[in-house]
Amino acid sequence: MIVAGAGLTDRGRLRPHNEDSLLVEAERGLFAVADGMGGHAAGEVASHLAIEAVRTSLAEAPRADDDMPARLRDAIEEANRRIAEQIEQQPECRGMGTTLVVAVSEGRRCWVAHIGDSRAYLIRGEQITQLTADHSFVNELVRLGMLSREQAARDPRRNVVTRALGSGAMVVPEIHEYRVEPGDTLLLCSDGLNTMLADERILAVVRETSGSLEEVCNGLIAAANEAGGEDNISVVAVRWQGAVEAAEGPTPLAPPTAEGSPTSSETGPTAEA
Ligand code: CA
Repeated sequence: MIVAGAGLTDRGRLRPHNEDSLLVEAERGLFAVADGMGGHAAGEVASHLAIEAVRTSLAEAPRADDDMPARLRDAIEEANRRIAEQIEQQPECRGMGTTLVVAVSEGRRCWVAHIGDSRAYLIRGEQITQLTADHSFVNELVRLGMLSREQAARDPRRNVVTRALGSGAMVVPEIHEYRVEPGDTLLLCSDGLNTMLADERILAVVRETSGSLEEVCNGLIAAANEAGGEDNISVVAVRWQGAVEAAEGPTPLAPPTAEGSPTSSETGPTAEA
C-alpha cells in the first residue's frame, strides 16, 4: 500500500498569531500536528520545537523489528526535553507548552500517539471514528458522566488540557496501533477544527471533496472559518491506496490497545491550548 499526505494550517479569524505547527513527510510515513500555547509567540516556539523533535527523532523509516511505541515515546520525551531547555534559557517562555498528535505509517500498520486535545480521526467508507480521547478537563467530566458530549462542546472550559508537552517533567503519551485499509483517510487536527465542526460535518466535507488531499485540507479549513474560525486551524490528511498483499487479508479497525491511560498521578497542571 502507498500512503499519501497533505497538510495545511490557518490562523483562523480571531487569533492574532498561528501557534500551530504540522509535519507531513509521506515518503517516511510520518505525520504530526502540534497546537502551541503560552502567548507572546511562545506557543509557536513550543509547537515548532515539538514537531522538529519528532522529525529528527524519527528520522529513520521504521523497520519490521522496530518497537514503534518505544520509538514514539522517546521522540515525545525528546520534544518535552527541548521545550524545557528553551524555558530554562528564556524564562519569559515559562508556561509555554504544546499538544501533539503523531501518526507513523508502515505498510498496513499505523501508530497514533497523542498528548492533549489535538485529535486523530479515521474515515472508512461512510464512517468517521475519533481515534484519540482528548486529554482535556471537559473530556474528564464526560468520562465521569458529569457532562454530556454536547455540553462539553459548548463548555467555556473546553480549551483546558490536562496533559501537554512542556507542562512538567513527566509526559505520558497515549499510543495505539491500528490496521489500515486501502481508501482509509486519517485526519490529524488541532482543536480549532473540531470545536468549529461536529464529527458529522467533518465527514461530510471530506466526502464532498473527493479530489486531492490538499482539497480536503482546504475544504475543512474553509468550513471551520465559515463556522467562526475562533482558533488556529490545522489539518493533516493521510490516505492509503493500492493493493493489500493476500497474506494480510482484510482486518476490521482494531480496538485500541491501552497504553498510558490516564491516572491522576500522570495528569500534569492544566493549561490553555
Ligand atoms: Ca488550539
